[in-house]
Amino acid sequence: MKVVNFWRDQKIRFGFLLDDEIFEPGLALSPLKPGEEVFFSDTISFIRGGEVTLNAARRLVALRPAHALHRLDQVKLAAPILPSTILCAGSNYREHNDEKLGSPTSGKEPEFFLKTSDSVIGPEDAIQYDEKLTRKLDCETELGIVIGTPGRHIAKERSLEHVFGYTIVNDVTARDRQVRRSGSFTWYELGRGKAFDTSAPIGPCITTADEIPDPQALGLRTRVNGELRQSSNTQNMIWSCADLIHVFSTNFTLKPGMVIITGTPAGTAWSSDKELGGHWQPKEGLVAATRYFLPGDIVECEIERIGILRNPVQ
Ligand code: MG
Repeated sequence: MKVVNFWRDQKIRFGFLLDDEIFEPGLALSPLKPGEEVFFSDTISFIRGGEVTLNAARRLVALRPAHALHRLDQVKLAAPILPSTILCAGSNYREHNDEKLGSPTSGKEPEFFLKTSDSVIGPEDAIQYDEKLTRKLDCETELGIVIGTPGRHIAKERSLEHVFGYTIVNDVTARDRQVRRSGSFTWYELGRGKAFDTSAPIGPCITTADEIPDPQALGLRTRVNGELRQSSNTQNMIWSCADLIHVFSTNFTLKPGMVIITGTPAGTAWSSDKELGGHWQPKEGLVAATRYFLPGDIVECEIERIGILRNPVQ
């Protein structure tokens, strides 16, 4: 199943993406058992409903009543979820670590920072270019893990049992706030560089975990104005999805609807920024960035089995 949120009559609605149509369960309630409708009001309620609700959804979708279908090209999608917290891993692909500051190594634990629901925008929403914040606006395509079953101190072997599904998140970054240099000394300010208005586009859908049995085998690509900038596979993560769930659940009780983002591969604009230590590594088929993002640019983040998250910069 592919979970989406979309706008209809000035309200965000919950639905499922079926090829080029959206099915809105709220318009097809009659086959639901009493009390089930509450689970179809929004994504987090749906996730809380667990396997029972997922099965009810499958039953409804099979009926596919025409009055509950909308053509995809006639609605505007919203972010498929509004997570309270986005738990973020950084420096999680060796190829990305090689292109920045010449620092290929990874620590004993994943790099960790946070974004909040205030950072979230949906597909086609504008990423703000704000010169008061940054002149080095950058984008990073990342696999997002959507938590289903709550847990704290989750064992690695059981981590994936806590996953509801997977989505795409663009980890929009103010590179000149994130990377600070003074003489030979370099440090990171992840709080300022990573969390700000429009810094977390999410979408276009959440693909449920049953359709992605192995999250470490997904092709991932970024196109900027049609140029291929990033192309890799989630198999190249240093810390796997299971590792990240295990480690981050030592900080927080992971709750239904929290999102974990998993780092980005090579090909960011940072790689071409010598001032901030960028080291562009040529890779067949990839076009090097010549500058950071500016108004008018279009970024498309694509992950296999999920789709394409497209946003303009404005
Ligand atoms: Mg990132």
